[in-house]
Amino acid sequence: MSKKLYINIIALILTSCVSNSRVEPELITPNLRETSRALQAVALADTTAFERLAELCDTFGHRLSGSQSLEDAIDWILTEMEADGFDNAHGESVMVPHWVRGNEELHMLEPWEENLAILGLGGSIGTPEEGITAEVIAVSDFEELARRKDEVLGKIVVYNAPFTSYGKTVTYRYRGAIEAAKYGAVASLIRSVTPKSLNTPHTGGMTYADTVKKIPQAAITVEAAEMLHRMTKRGQAPKLHLKMEGQTLPDTESRNIVLEIRGSEKPDEIIVMGGHTDSWDVGQGAMDDASGCVASWEALRLIKTLGLKPKRTIRVVFWTNEENGLRGGKAYAEDHKDENHILAIETDGGVFAPEGFGFTGPDDMREKLQQIASLLEPLGAGKIFDSGGGADISPLTNAGVPGMGLRVDGSTYFWYHHTAADMMTMLDRDEFNKCVAALAIMAYSVSEME
Ligand SMILES: [Zn+2]
Repeated sequence: MSKKLYINIIALILTSCVSNSRVEPELITPNLRETSRALQAVALADTTAFERLAELCDTFGHRLSGSQSLEDAIDWILTEMEADGFDNAHGESVMVPHWVRGNEELHMLEPWEENLAILGLGGSIGTPEEGITAEVIAVSDFEELARRKDEVLGKIVVYNAPFTSYGKTVTYRYRGAIEAAKYGAVASLIRSVTPKSLNTPHTGGMTYADTVKKIPQAAITVEAAEMLHRMTKRGQAPKLHLKMEGQTLPDTESRNIVLEIRGSEKPDEIIVMGGHTDSWDVGQGAMDDASGCVASWEALRLIKTLGLKPKRTIRVVFWTNEENGLRGGKAYAEDHKDENHILAIETDGGVFAPEGFGFTGPDDMREKLQQIASLLEPLGAGKIFDSGGGADISPLTNAGVPGMGLRVDGSTYFWYHHTAADMMTMLDRDEFNKCVAALAIMAYSVSEME
């Protein structure tokens, strides 16, 4: 070997060593890597949490704020947490809105008779007892409604706004009744906010304005909205009879659930993670969001089961009243404002195959999280996305706490969202367990960060 070649080889070895040590994530100690493997193994082999999720859903059903089923579910969860050996699980009182749906029906009288599926939107007023009978004006969007404002008086407005993104399309749910009432409509029906429908109506929150008359508002199915729109375009005049009994009762008391493992070295630095206990009053609220709650709980239980002693406090919170008030998230942020939350993680996008975490926060923390995310690659969840958070943690993140949301393959999430089909059957145990593993590894690793 010539001397020059020898020197070149040595130089090559040296540079490859240097570059290797640069790409190797420095935060990931052999110990942490080992723990992460153990958490993943135990999470993926587990059946406890998925069975517990099913028991919660099957025993208590849907859990709208103000309902007895929500409070009974909270009692059961607290008892189960104690049975897990946690001695600090407790409820924190929150006053929540209490809207009740009552009975509702939508009957098409012309051009042929049919009962159409509806779900009143949360917060809607009811119709007069005898119901509302009126002709339909169907529009594609608010612009068309404004253009045709002279045709609206005394009619039922049908918004047939196709799903683009949830954020954009949901405007019709929030503001539909306000815009329709401005021009004298007697009721508002929105096309359900979903990219896919099997004639399933989707409920959700809505608003009124103090300055505009309140009219009842409900969601109809994509199929019905398109049909009514086609009819009116053809010059037919569909006539509907709508009856709704929705009403808002006085606020009632609910609770956030708080559970934690105190940090062994920095107990005052808190990583909070969770989801929301309440749901809409249809289906089981299995996906939205019993699954996010139970996955977070299970992540903490596994950390405890493995006998790990996180350096920082890992706290699980199940917020109440996310769906129609966000009172739980607001109350938690207010009640715990003097504590030092270093990260807030929310799981409220379903527990499908995890892809990583969305993160909003400082760049140096993002860099550390990217290193931690390398531990999630075996789960297919090794990405840190540009932004992340969640509704319940928004009062924290708005106050400057770094926020994170578990990211999953959400391609079917809105098919089930806020419908009677949000039941255990649409969840998959292996995907759920992967989410548990990702949450456990992320929370534990952050608790160990220098
Ligand atoms: Zn939710």
